[in-house]
Amino acid sequence: MLRSRHSRVICIGAGAAGLYFSTLCHEALVLERNDRPGRKLLITGGGGCNFTHDLPPSELSLHYPDRRTFVSPALHAHGADAIRARFRSLSLESIVTEDGKVFPRSRDAHDVLYALEKASGTIVTGCHVEEVHRKDDHFVIGTDMGLFTSDTLIIATGGLSYPATGSTGDGFAFARSLGHTVVPPRPALCRLELESALPECEGISLDEVRLVLDGHKTRGPILFTRTGVSGPAVMNLSRYATGDSVLRICFRDVDEAAIRSLEARRKAVNAMASALSLPDRLVRALLPSVVDKTIAQLTKEDMKTCARMLRDFSSPCSTSGCMKTATVTRGGVCVDEVDRRTFASRLCPGLNIIGEALDVDGECGGYNLTFAFASAYAAAKAIVSR
Ligand SMILES: Cc1cc2nc3c(=O)[nH]c(=O)nc-3n(C[C@H](O)[C@H](O)[C@H](O)COP(=O)(O)OP(=O)(O)OC[C@H]3O[C@@H](n4cnc5c(N)ncnc54)[C@H](O)[C@@H]3O)c2cc1C
Repeated sequence: MLRSRHSRVICIGAGAAGLYFSTLCHEALVLERNDRPGRKLLITGGGGCNFTHDLPPSELSLHYPDRRTFVSPALHAHGADAIRARFRSLSLESIVTEDGKVFPRSRDAHDVLYALEKASGTIVTGCHVEEVHRKDDHFVIGTDMGLFTSDTLIIATGGLSYPATGSTGDGFAFARSLGHTVVPPRPALCRLELESALPECEGISLDEVRLVLDGHKTRGPILFTRTGVSGPAVMNLSRYATGDSVLRICFRDVDEAAIRSLEARRKAVNAMASALSLPDRLVRALLPSVVDKTIAQLTKEDMKTCARMLRDFSSPCSTSGCMKTATVTRGGVCVDEVDRRTFASRLCPGLNIIGEALDVDGECGGYNLTFAFASAYAAAKAIVSR
C-alpha cells in the first residue's frame, strides 16, 4: 500500500554509518532494505568487529591512502578515543590488541550492533529505497513501501563490496541522480588473482614476504589461494590493482652464490627449502625445472632461474570477480563534491553522504568502521545543531 510520510531527516541505510548517525540524531527516520539493520557489521573482524584502531587522529589518517586530507577533520573531531568513549556510554567496553586493533571486550560483533540498535531512533526495516529526487525544497524518496519525504537526506548505503549484506551500490545511483559524480567502484582489501597462480600451494602461508604492485611496496604475511594470493599485506595492496597490474613477490633475498654454497649432493629443492625456511611444496611449485636435480647438477642458468624466482617472482594480477567478497569498495561518490567537516553535499542542498558510499577506503585494522563512525558523527553534529 502506498503511503506518504514526512520526516525532517531521512537516512537511507542502517549499516555502521547509518546506525551510528541514528544514535546521535534521534529525529532521523532510517530506511533499511534488509529485515535487520547492520548485516555487514555482524561479519566484520571475523565476527569480532574490529571497530577502530588505537591511534591518535593524525596517525589514523595515514591509513587512508590518497584520502588523508579528506578524512583528517572528521578523525580529529571524533577519532578512536571518542569512538571508544561513545561505545562505553552505550555500555560496550572494548579491548586493544597488541597490534592496536580495537574490539568489543566480548569479541562479538552482535554486542556492537545491539549497543547501536538500542540507542537508535526509528528504523524502518524491509524498506528498499528505489529512487530519490529533489522537489522544490525537499527530497522525495520512493520505496517499495511507498513515498517518504524529508528536508534533509543522508545517503549511508555503503559501497558495492559484499553485496549479499545489502550494499549493492544503490547509493551511487541516488547520488548521481542528485548531481554527483561517482568514481567507478572497484574491489579493495581483497585477494589478488594471479595469472601465474600456484594452485598446488593452496593453503600455504608465509610470515613475511616483500611485495610490489605497480610500484606500491609493502611487506607482511601472505596466504596462497587456489587462484592467487591473499593475507593482510596482499589485501592492503589490492586497491592499486588495475586491468594490467603486475605483482612481484620477494620470497627470500637470495643470490646464485648462496645457492651454489648449499650441500652439493642434496636435492636442490629440499636444500633451498630448508636453507631459506620455505615449504618444500612452494619451492617445488616455483622451480619445476630443477625438481629432479641435486645442487651439484644445477647449471649456471638453473641457479640464475632459482635465485630470480625466489627473489623476484612476478605475475600479472587482478581483482576481477572479487567484489562479492571484498572487504571494502574503492571508488564511490567523489569527495571533492562533499564538505569534509560536515559531509554535506556541495552540489545538492540538504544532502549528506557518509561512510563507504564515499570514495574513501582505509587499510585493514578497523579504519573503515572508524571512517563510517567519524563521518556519521560529523554529519549528525552539523544537522542536530542546525
Ligand atoms: C567480511 C568483511 C569484514 C570487515 N571487517 C571489518 C573490520 O573488522 N573493521 C573495519 O573497520 N571494517 C571492516 N569491514 C568494512 C566495514 O564493514 C564497512 O566499511 C562498513 O560497514 C561501511 O559502513 P556503511 O554504513 O557505510 O555501509 P554498510 O555497513 O554496508 O551499510 C549500508 C546499509 O545500507 C543498506 N542499503 C543499501 N542500499 C539500500 C537501499 N536502496 N534501500 C535501503 N537500504 C539500503 C544496506 O542494506 C546496508 O544495511 C569489513 C567488511 C567485510 C565485507
